[in-house]
Amino acid sequence: MALELVTTIGDRCKVCYTCVRECPAKAIRISGGQAEVIQERCIGCGNCVQVCSQKAKAVMSSVEQVKELLERPGLKVSACVAPSFPVEFTDCSPEQFIGMVRALGFDLVNEVAFGADLVSEKYNELVKRHSGTKRRFIATACAAAVEYVEHLSPHLTESLAPLASPMVAMARYVHRMYGDDVAVVFIGPCIAKKAEAVELSRGQVDQVLTFGELREMFRDAGIDPDKVIPTNFDPPFAKLGGIYPVSGGLVQTAKIDERLMSSEAAVVDGHNTFVEAIREFESGAIQATVVEVMACNGCIMGPSVSSSVPLYSRRAMIADYIRHRMTTFDPEKWVEDMYRYPDLDLSQTFKPEDRRMPTPSREEVNDILARLGKETAEDELNCGACGYDTCLEHAIAIFQGLAEGEMCLPHTIDQLKSSVTELADVNKRLEHAQHALVQGEKLASMGQLAAGIAHEVNNPLGVVLMYSHLLSEDCDVKPEMREDLKIITEQADRCKRIVSGLLNFARQNRVLLQPTVLRKFLESSLLGVQIPDNIKVEIQCPDHEAMAELDSDQLMQVFTNLLVNAIEAMPDGGRIVLGCQFTERQVIFRIADNGVGIPPENAEKVFTPFFTTKPVGRGTGLGLPVSYGIVKMHRGDIRFESNVDPDRGPTGTTFFITLPRYGNNV
Ligand code: ADP
Ligand code: MG
Repeated sequence: MALELVTTIGDRCKVCYTCVRECPAKAIRISGGQAEVIQERCIGCGNCVQVCSQKAKAVMSSVEQVKELLERPGLKVSACVAPSFPVEFTDCSPEQFIGMVRALGFDLVNEVAFGADLVSEKYNELVKRHSGTKRRFIATACAAAVEYVEHLSPHLTESLAPLASPMVAMARYVHRMYGDDVAVVFIGPCIAKKAEAVELSRGQVDQVLTFGELREMFRDAGIDPDKVIPTNFDPPFAKLGGIYPVSGGLVQTAKIDERLMSSEAAVVDGHNTFVEAIREFESGAIQATVVEVMACNGCIMGPSVSSSVPLYSRRAMIADYIRHRMTTFDPEKWVEDMYRYPDLDLSQTFKPEDRRMPTPSREEVNDILARLGKETAEDELNCGACGYDTCLEHAIAIFQGLAEGEMCLPHTIDQLKSSVTELADVNKRLEHAQHALVQGEKLASMGQLAAGIAHEVNNPLGVVLMYSHLLSEDCDVKPEMREDLKIITEQADRCKRIVSGLLNFARQNRVLLQPTVLRKFLESSLLGVQIPDNIKVEIQCPDHEAMAELDSDQLMQVFTNLLVNAIEAMPDGGRIVLGCQFTERQVIFRIADNGVGIPPENAEKVFTPFFTTKPVGRGTGLGLPVSYGIVKMHRGDIRFESNVDPDRGPTGTTFFITLPRYGNNV
């Protein structure tokens, strides 16, 4: 079970993917709107803690456990302080700092720099033994790098130099010098050391405090640098091990030749480069006998250093401190301390444990890429916005459940864009539907009124017609009266037609659907209309067999009305096109003329009963309203497009009638 070194504070995480991008172990998964740390993969480098602008990453705290150790009666506790402390505790002198640690209740304050001296000797021997052979090692002072190798490059575990880290070496020395029952608390800039203490120190290191946690303890205990007794570390005292926290410090202290030509050592540091270096080590590109790999740019840049002082100033601070120490350095004493316990075990064994994720096949990756809209290599922008260097890496991470598709910014923008267009389209259709509804309601109420009047007028009109017919058939009627009676009959007939038109418009007649061959229907619709010689009619319905279920009698009336209108709009002749298109579900008829067109100001009115622009006696203004009524009964739709302005193109009007092809719902 992996330790929970770093966790996400859910409320603070704004899912900006910075930690995803910056995690060298790819140990962060986006899930449930949060950047969650995958504990099995986390190497404790603390980079995510440093880069998170929202302070949404919490580090496992050991403060309570350390307090408990300090309070345990009769227990001696040693604080083993990492050599990087001078870059963190700049607000007091080193001696004041040591005094403050003692003031917390630590019985011993030891410098881990001496542990570094111890292992440096061993590194020197290791290189001497293997220089010129093919054997190569990864140095192991950096706990995060070791975690990375053991879990994420497990086959390289045997390449880890089999030597203890300065922390572990120092802990063993302290136990030897001061007794096995001393508790050791390592204090340093590193989060990964907490895992090393548990997994590798074999109980030699009891707890690990970060500098941040130590500050917290100073604060809680109200420890003031000016009120403590400044003291030195407890022996043994270090020599040059103090430069370990600077990258290259190990190689330098171990007196290993780092020159390019020597192939003895190489130094690689930094979150991005160390993973690459481990890969290069694996491929054999790095030939040096020892590679000093550090996940940070040296421990002086560790995640728990709160200072904002830049790298080179920090190096200078370490150098200053070591110079300061050297003024009181006793070489004889140091040699004595170094070789006091010749049998002190400075070795370390490592255990590989494969925590890598399964890798997808090429097809699986391609599928994922396609879902992200990346069909070809050119679509892979590799912009890095998702936190992964390449689209391929992102796709693999999606496969592994680490990432989500929405993290791809170009894809998300594309999707948003199409959603916006879709929304705009839906809005437009809604607007259209609303308009049609208003228009429909208006026509419906007119229809009711019309039906009412027509019904009332119909009967008296029938009586007038009947009597005028009776009269005109009467042989006694005078010839001049016969002429008058003829006019009465004709006009009453006209009224009757208008009234029945009105009833048609308003009627709730049933629609009688019958299988109809579309082309035949169009052809026969022409029979009921007299087409003048100067007008050409064309039928555009390429499919001679296509069928639909229509009430052809009623629709015939619609076509007659529209054809008459088209003819009347072209007094000087022209062309009419009767067209038909269809899909599985719909039939769309088209009646186009190149006549005078319908001016925009009339567009709203043409379906209103009695609206006509034709001279009295010619137009009744009922053709379109009746057609509208019939189309609506078919659950269809009638609309038109028209142009009256020759400057904008040929004038004319096209009516479109859309009907359900199989109107089983009608
Ligand atoms: P009417 O034909 O009796 O006037 P309609 O309801 O059939 O009544 O048509 C209403 C009005 O719509 C017409 O008077 C005319 O102004 C206009 N209209 C209809 N169809 C056309 C067309 N194809 N071209 C130009 N105007 C048309
Ligand atoms: Mg008409």
